[in-house]
Amino acid sequence: MNASPQIARTIAEVRGLIERLRAERAGGESGNEVGFVPTMGYLHEGHASLLRRARRENGITALSIFVNPIQFGPNEDLERYPRSEEADLELAAREGVDVVFLPSAQEMYPAQRRTTVAVTGVTERLCGASRPGHFDGVATVVSKLFNIVKPDKAYFGAKDAQQVAVLQKMVSDLNMDVRIVPCPIVREADGLALSSRNVYLSEEQRREALVLSRSLREASARIESEAEVTPEQIVAGVTGSIQASPLAQIDYVELLTFPELQPLDPKRDLSDLRDSGGSVILALAVKFGSTRLIDNAILNLKEAPLHV
Ligand code: AMP
Repeated sequence: MNASPQIARTIAEVRGLIERLRAERAGGESGNEVGFVPTMGYLHEGHASLLRRARRENGITALSIFVNPIQFGPNEDLERYPRSEEADLELAAREGVDVVFLPSAQEMYPAQRRTTVAVTGVTERLCGASRPGHFDGVATVVSKLFNIVKPDKAYFGAKDAQQVAVLQKMVSDLNMDVRIVPCPIVREADGLALSSRNVYLSEEQRREALVLSRSLREASARIESEAEVTPEQIVAGVTGSIQASPLAQIDYVELLTFPELQPLDPKRDLSDLRDSGGSVILALAVKFGSTRLIDNAILNLKEAPLHV
């Protein structure tokens, strides 16, 4: 049985706890590096996989749970975003987390904020286009969390692949002394990518949502096996499969280069990228009722698909 994690609700507390643990564990067998997993809570196996990896690779594991208001748009689900502190702390204890940082919005944003971290280029498409301001909110809160926790490594899921690309660019452009570690998407046995938002789905929506992973799998197989297939044909194939589900409403389906997230010539096959061993991302956002789900597959065109 793992010891319960230490809980900090203020910035001063979490800094103190991390400093103490670093000093205690200096020179110890598993080291005193800090592996950090930032989340919005309502934790599931996807989050647990990041925590496990962080624990394996670091002497100290830190988790933050904060539903960051500035990454939600005015008509998004901030108010109804699911929360469950007790269950989250149980999962954290099971996974051997050392420190949980649980700040209030007031603690993170006490006064009028005059600083925003904005990453350009990689934020132009996908969720950057359909959720204006979202990635400014993400980059700003993650910068603050990095300054507070001072992790050596930070673990993020490929479920939010654009987020990974944005944060890698931010860390590199701003010379932040932390390594971003991308981790594979965790799925239910039937293929649905785990998400805190899956609890919003009705039984019927949940069943139909399987079209997302299924169409990604089919399209990935096509990219692998049909040398002549074009981005336009891939996107049309996925769009058609999703539109066949009466409950699904497409926000976007796009095939882009990865990690640059730049568009491909829709009518040109992928042979240049195949030759250079480049990667592409097939990404989609689809609404079922008021619940917006995202999923993606990243394919290295020289190797097997990575995340499906
Ligand atoms: P969230 O709490 O949704 O903000 O997610 C916190 C972290 O967990 C992010 O890095 C997500 O990409 C990651 N995550 C969420 N769902 C999954 C999943 N199904 N598989 C892997 N990582 C995930």
